[in-house]
Amino acid sequence: MGVRLASGDRLASLEGRSPTIATLCSHSSLQIFHGARAEGLATLGLCVGRPPKFYDAFPLARPDRFVSVPRVKDLAGVEPQLKEQAAIVVPHGSFVEYLGAELFGKLDVPVFGNRAVLGWEYDREKEREWLESAGVAMPRRYADASEVDGPVIVKYFGAKGGKGFFLAKNRRALEGFRPEGPHVIQEYILGTRYYMHFFYSPLSDRGYRVGHGSLELLGMDRRDEANIDELYKLGAQEELLKAGLRPTFVVTGNVPVVLRESLLERAFETAARIVERSIELFGGMVGPFCVEGIMTEELQFKVFEISTRIVAGTNLFISGSPYSDLVAPDLSTGRRIAKEILLARSEGRLAEILS
Ligand code: AMP
Repeated sequence: MGVRLASGDRLASLEGRSPTIATLCSHSSLQIFHGARAEGLATLGLCVGRPPKFYDAFPLARPDRFVSVPRVKDLAGVEPQLKEQAAIVVPHGSFVEYLGAELFGKLDVPVFGNRAVLGWEYDREKEREWLESAGVAMPRRYADASEVDGPVIVKYFGAKGGKGFFLAKNRRALEGFRPEGPHVIQEYILGTRYYMHFFYSPLSDRGYRVGHGSLELLGMDRRDEANIDELYKLGAQEELLKAGLRPTFVVTGNVPVVLRESLLERAFETAARIVERSIELFGGMVGPFCVEGIMTEELQFKVFEISTRIVAGTNLFISGSPYSDLVAPDLSTGRRIAKEILLARSEGRLAEILS
């Protein structure tokens, strides 16, 4: 038996009814709806203003019904409609960002996953505390520019798409650097980036066991980031800086990747430690999460970030990935979420996966 995350009151709207999968029309919602429909569940799309017209182009993913609100902050006001539909809200990055972690955390409807995770992910200090105490290797953080002894990336807090992030080859390149606001100076890891899509089920009693449940790897991607990915075509960083061009890391798309098979063991061990520590710290992270890191030439994996819900990179794998194909056929992360909800419902264990 896993940890009980939701009170009986929170789940009252679901009692004796088939649930409806609800999410905000953005980010990975087409995949979430598509997966829910494949499992026979009803779907509801929340939108600000009119439903997106391009959803009409995707009949297998378009939700059964839409609920529109005039402004983002009005989303919190649709709780009664969601309860009426026996909705389970599936969070994704845009949903939490648009509504704000605080408001999202207070939504009075059943949410897939453990919402206690929000407090540990959105504060970068707490995220580091969680990962480092789990024994996960992270890029070194310098307290001061004078300590710098290699290439660094300077990250401003809350910088959307890494706007204004600053790369410096060494301490000398940082001389005269005047920060434009609260920031961290972090070791720049040279290597190759991997964004690994895991799923933790506290219900499953087979497979790669972690805690009371099991861990699955459903896919992997690398992000396309503008303008950094193409910046080199214009010449050396220093020259670009002089010309007033700064690197940005705005995610514009995703590319599928696979990892050398011998590195999978390390990937699983890292993800397992993160889950185990989450159980100790706040009752456990449930469902999809993404471990984002860089593999160095010494084959060390350094994690710079984790996303504790479905990531948009999973959109590559609507009908499965080279990893999920080895778990079950046609298994997207969206569909995996629907399967978990159905399993929990049939076993009377919804309180362990909803909060
Ligand atoms: P973040 O805002 O932390 O997600 O970082 C945005 C992007 O910056 C990532 O997707 C990576 O491309 C890059 N990045 C972040 N941290 C590091 C690091 N320590 N070393 C190298 N690249 C990084």
